[in-house]
Amino acid sequence: MPDVPNDHAAGPESGRSEPSEPPEIRAFALGPFQTNCYVTSRKGASRGDPCWVADCGVEPGIMLEEIDRLGLVPEAVVLTHAHLDHIAGLFAFRARFPDCPIWIHEAEGAWLTDPNLNLSARHGIEVTGPTPDRLLADGELLTLCGEPWEVRHTPGHSPGGISLVHRGSPVAIVGDTLFNGSIGRHDFPGSDFETLARSIQEKLYTLPPETVALPGHGPVTQIGHEKLSNPFVRGDSVTA
Ligand SMILES: [Zn+2]
Ligand SMILES: [Zn+2]
Repeated sequence: MPDVPNDHAAGPESGRSEPSEPPEIRAFALGPFQTNCYVTSRKGASRGDPCWVADCGVEPGIMLEEIDRLGLVPEAVVLTHAHLDHIAGLFAFRARFPDCPIWIHEAEGAWLTDPNLNLSARHGIEVTGPTPDRLLADGELLTLCGEPWEVRHTPGHSPGGISLVHRGSPVAIVGDTLFNGSIGRHDFPGSDFETLARSIQEKLYTLPPETVALPGHGPVTQIGHEKLSNPFVRGDSVTA
């Protein structure tokens, strides 16, 4: 959905794996909603190497062309949530990469095929996507391009919202849960401010403060920065 980032934050430590080289993450702000979609690969990946994709918004052409240009092979699309602006490009993606599976949190497993649930119906455009291939749960450790990524269930903006935390370098893809200086909208059906605030405080502000947070819209930020200065959800009370 059109989540417009407003303003800015910090946080302690949580589970870490062995340090590894930070992955290469390319961001694409797609379509009229300017949805940040991310193509991640190992640093220095070359033709024939795998990549994985977080979210696939409206008008995904520039992202698909770049994957093609680099010759990368997507091994999964992982959806931070299933609002229309994060899923509208999935059929175009599948047309280009028919074998690439689509993963989403179990709470939104039915949303890709239901324009009412994914909120496209209220925009009058009836967006759908393919049936997901795998349903995810909180705490799962995914292996993507050989790297461990933790699924953190961060509901509140939507019931099945997830953040993807790299276990090995301080980076997290946070969808529409947390923005640079703002938080996700909580006025949609299925949204709830208290749930969102709890997700941010318990699942994101507990990450190391240097963690780079890659949001679903707008510029990147850092967990530590948001925890100190985000005007909507403060980190003061967080004692993780
Ligand atoms: Zn959304
Ligand atoms: Zn969005």
